[in-house]
Amino acid sequence: MGLFRSNRVIGIAADTLDFALDASEDTHPNEYMGFLRGERARRVGIDRDGLVVTDILVIPGTESNPMSATVKSNMIPNDMKAVGSVHSHPNGVLKPSDADLATFGSGEVHIIIGYPYRRSDWQAFDRDGEERELDVLDADLPDADTFFDFTQADIDKELRDE
Ligand SMILES: [Zn+2]
Repeated sequence: MGLFRSNRVIGIAADTLDFALDASEDTHPNEYMGFLRGERARRVGIDRDGLVVTDILVIPGTESNPMSATVKSNMIPNDMKAVGSVHSHPNGVLKPSDADLATFGSGEVHIIIGYPYRRSDWQAFDRDGEERELDVLDADLPDADTFFDFTQADIDKELRDE
């Protein structure tokens, strides 16, 4: 159980949330969709157990329209360890759709961001689609310019480090 607790997602980095809000606004009126990656809280300067969402990985070739976003599943790295997902609802409804619920089973936290994409226009859900808490944390993230430029080499390096 100790392992389970330490892998719990306790929050999202404030900069990462702002990035997702901006990306959702840029993608409007279509849906934005990405996967959430976590980092150990203590590695980003937060003195707590658990994981903090620090990265968003957008799968190349993701197609979106105002009602849905379709991820090309053959483009998802086999070794991708996502802690959950984030997507936007251009209609502003902060509730998972039936289609969303069908995908929430993998990953423990799923964020829905709604129009008009302000700091208050989002909600986190668990794998059952129930609302859950997700703290917004001041994490020490690497330089944002390179941080979201995610390559296979980065993924390989991360795997080697573990
Ligand atoms: Zn949705």
